[in-house]
Amino acid sequence: MNFEHITLGQRVLFGTGKAAEHVAKEVARHEARRVMCISSEFERSLADKALASIDVVLWHSDVVQHVPVETAEKARKAAADGDIDLIVCVGGGSTTGLAKAVALTSGIPIVAVPTTYAGSEATNVWGLTEGATKTTGVDDKVLPAAVIYDAELTVGLPVALSVASGLNALAHCVDSLWAPKADPINQALAAEGVRALADGLPRIAGNPEGLEGRETALYGAYLAAVAFASAGSGLHHKICHVLGGTFNMPHAETHATVLPYVLAFNGPAAPDAAARLAGALRSGMGAASASGSRTDAAEEAVELLNELRSRLNAPVSLRDHGFTEADIPEAVRRIVKAAPASNPAAVAEESVTALLHAALEGQVPAVRALATT
Ligand code: NAD
Repeated sequence: MNFEHITLGQRVLFGTGKAAEHVAKEVARHEARRVMCISSEFERSLADKALASIDVVLWHSDVVQHVPVETAEKARKAAADGDIDLIVCVGGGSTTGLAKAVALTSGIPIVAVPTTYAGSEATNVWGLTEGATKTTGVDDKVLPAAVIYDAELTVGLPVALSVASGLNALAHCVDSLWAPKADPINQALAAEGVRALADGLPRIAGNPEGLEGRETALYGAYLAAVAFASAGSGLHHKICHVLGGTFNMPHAETHATVLPYVLAFNGPAAPDAAARLAGALRSGMGAASASGSRTDAAEEAVELLNELRSRLNAPVSLRDHGFTEADIPEAVRRIVKAAPASNPAAVAEESVTALLHAALEGQVPAVRALATT
């Protein structure tokens, strides 16, 4: 083995029903006097719960998906005017993203209380959108100092959104297996993340109010994000980044829809990753899901992922989320430019066009239809 791995420094407090206690503990640890809460209007009731034991000098609710620069500027000004010394963000990835935009230019520390499975809280990646272009970057200033996971805050997340968000987390894991900086440590985290998500998500779909499925999914989402932050963006993330930033498509649903097509495309060229993924999916979904007849790892992984997605009633078509045939050429141009040189399968205009067509129509993802190797 020969690799260089960086582990990001962050405190994780996991405890169902303990968000308020843990937030108070972190505010005390930071000796914060002027706390700003970032949380959308919709997430405000969750923030009220999580911040019940502390004083908040500024509530900021102007949250917009993909963090437009104007939204970031408003929040930065509010933080500066309020002389803020700690940000507590309560909400999904959009809310965490806005907190990161403030931290990027001010250095104000963040305590993140995530309420979806997006995973932004465990990465040092920021994103900002200007016009039709989303820019991302890496800066340790935006890594939340602490993350507080409380499954109770996620029980209100509707099943469809839980599924899409959970598959977004699964995509972090899958892409980490072949991303530019994949290594044995982040691959191990990714595999355990897959197992946990494949176990937790069907339990959420079956019993949305059950806390065990929610806890398992949060645990998996955290591992997924840590693996992703370490391994970097693979082809899947590059595709979704273009679809989100240029075509304003919803983040979680786009990831959930595109993932099996990228797996079908890359799997045959990455047999070890496919075998590991198949094993983790099998383990999470239960032995009954094992596909006895398959000998090809990529085919088995795609088949298991299809089965999981069907159990979850996952989103199937990009068309359902606003993408059209006419968008494909522009998307392909941007994706081919952004694709990592180290991607296991060769990325060319023709193959990306085929992948997007299949995802647009919601064709059953299959290795034979997409793989070029
Ligand atoms: P989101 O934050 O936009 O939330 C989706 C919807 O769910 C919103 O309407 C929100 O108010 C609602 N919601 C959130 N928590 C809820 C709860 N517990 N109950 C009910 N409703 C709830 O979507 P997301 O998928 O969480 O995040 C997407 C954004 O995060 C994108 O902009 C993406 O780029 C970013 N992201 C960044 C990273 C990173 O590392 N920087 C990683 C993942 C995602």
